[in-house]
Amino acid sequence: MVSRVVFGRGSFNQLDDILSLKRKGRNAPFIFYVDDVFKGNHWLTSRITLSYKDKIIYVPTKEEPSTGQIDQLVEDIILEYSELPSGIIGIGGGTVLDIAKAVSLMLTNKGESKDYQGWDLIKHAAIYHVGIPTISGTGAEVSRTTILTGPVRKLGINSDYTPFDQVILDPELTKDVPKDQWFYTGMDCFVHCVESLTGTYLNAFSESYGEKAFELCKEIFLGDSLSVEEAQDKLMMASWHGGMSIAYSQVGVAHAMSYGLGYLLGVKHGIGNCIVFDHLEAFYPEGVAIFKEMKAKHNIEIPSGICADLDQSQFDIMIDVALSLEPLWENAIGKNWKTIITRQKLLELYKKM
Ligand code: NAD
Ligand code: ZN
Repeated sequence: MVSRVVFGRGSFNQLDDILSLKRKGRNAPFIFYVDDVFKGNHWLTSRITLSYKDKIIYVPTKEEPSTGQIDQLVEDIILEYSELPSGIIGIGGGTVLDIAKAVSLMLTNKGESKDYQGWDLIKHAAIYHVGIPTISGTGAEVSRTTILTGPVRKLGINSDYTPFDQVILDPELTKDVPKDQWFYTGMDCFVHCVESLTGTYLNAFSESYGEKAFELCKEIFLGDSLSVEEAQDKLMMASWHGGMSIAYSQVGVAHAMSYGLGYLLGVKHGIGNCIVFDHLEAFYPEGVAIFKEMKAKHNIEIPSGICADLDQSQFDIMIDVALSLEPLWENAIGKNWKTIITRQKLLELYKKM
């Protein structure tokens, strides 16, 4: 679990105080990975104080993080500095948060990041790392994974060392998120809840967080009584609770199939989940009905026809990626999932998207 967390509008201003206690010396910098949407945005960046060799690195978020990108970022740090950093700080959405987690892990673990994609392969504790979300939904701020696209698979580095040492939850940072993106990333949280709450891995720990996040999502995306600020505050907490819920259970069919779209077509996580979930009535009847209601209320168009021009070998790649995520299927369907989920079924579903 994340060891320390502060919450509140304006809590971003505590960053300097929090970090000053963790500085290891003038040659051990803090490295700030910041979503490049904030480049030139003085409202945010002027509140980051750089001392000694500290550095802000703006990260493009068009594509999701890859193992090659992480290895390059780690090498850049090793070549530039004589000592390991005092800390790595990620300021952005799931993309940037995952980059910060992965870099902090790979600075202390030998070899290439692709070798650590999987469960509990990390040997050594990461560098001190801080997560500051600027968009709500993924739960990346709280989870024990960092999802990377590697040469052969899209899979997280899941480990006890992956969670942030410190998180700053300042809902004000989400104020300029565009509406479509707000919906897609918010729906990532909603899908986490549905997949966790209906899964066979569910336990009382996951359920208590999942139910809370599910209720918050309904209030935010279907209700009419919240102010803009209240909705931002609540979505940040829904994201946190949704992430906590899957930390001790698992996601399911939408995520497995969305990883296929992400791997082959580069479709991003939030929108990919929406594209898939829209067609999953057979697996999640109640959740999909609520999703469709939310989509209609906010006038959101989900892209369609993205698989229209694919050939059989491309469908096979997506199906291979989806089926390789065995814990997700086992959670969704049960131990006998292989007798129920066939390649043909997945092909038919992908063809609808
Ligand atoms: P993202 O980080 O890619 O950001 C989406 C878009 O929103 C980007 O264009 C970004 O620039 C913009 N944005 C972010 N904050 C903004 C702000 N305050 N104002 C204006 N624009 C802003 O999207 P995401 O949905 O947050 O994250 C997706 C990534 O998270 C994927 O790489 C996915 O694999 C990963 N993920 C990780 C976990 C985990 O547990 N580690 C869970 C789910 C998803
Ligand atoms: Zn997700």
